[in-house]
Amino acid sequence: MGNPLRDRRTPSELAASGQVIDFSEKINNFVELAKIVQSDLDSLDPAGLPADWRDTDVAGRLSFGFADAQNSRPSLRGRVTATIDAVCQRCLEAFKLALDVELRFVFDGEESTAADTAGYEIWELEENTFRPLDLVEEALIMAMPLVAMHVDSETCHGPMEIEQRPNEKLRPFAALKSQMEQDN
Ligand SMILES: [Zn+2]
Repeated sequence: MGNPLRDRRTPSELAASGQVIDFSEKINNFVELAKIVQSDLDSLDPAGLPADWRDTDVAGRLSFGFADAQNSRPSLRGRVTATIDAVCQRCLEAFKLALDVELRFVFDGEESTAADTAGYEIWELEENTFRPLDLVEEALIMAMPLVAMHVDSETCHGPMEIEQRPNEKLRPFAALKSQMEQDN
């Protein structure tokens, strides 16, 4: 028995058999993605490094089929989620970055009409066959934000806007205090 996530197949084969792949993998099985996460975490103080980041689960479901009624355009619909460890670029602390990627692709084919591919993005393959695992990895990498940051400012201890700094709010009192000191 093969491993549908790792076997090299053509999109047509996967579509014709209506292949559905449910998976839950460790991030370490996605070599390029793991490298990106590691190089991001390398900037952390070793003490702040999440020890178990390589065990992060990457889970999802892929469903292959055809985008058109003529069964000529192989398609992939699915969803992949992962909560990866990343470094917040505002406070430079590690945090959990949730990725939730919707997949809706049609594979690059010979002749195509706009109607065939409505609602789908075109996924271009370099070779006839591919590993679904590699596609998942590439889609996750593309979904990563250019600048990762805490979404919730409550949990981010980074540099805040000046008007939000508690100390800045005390400024009138500080000014008053220094004025009083001068008077004395
Ligand atoms: Zn932060």
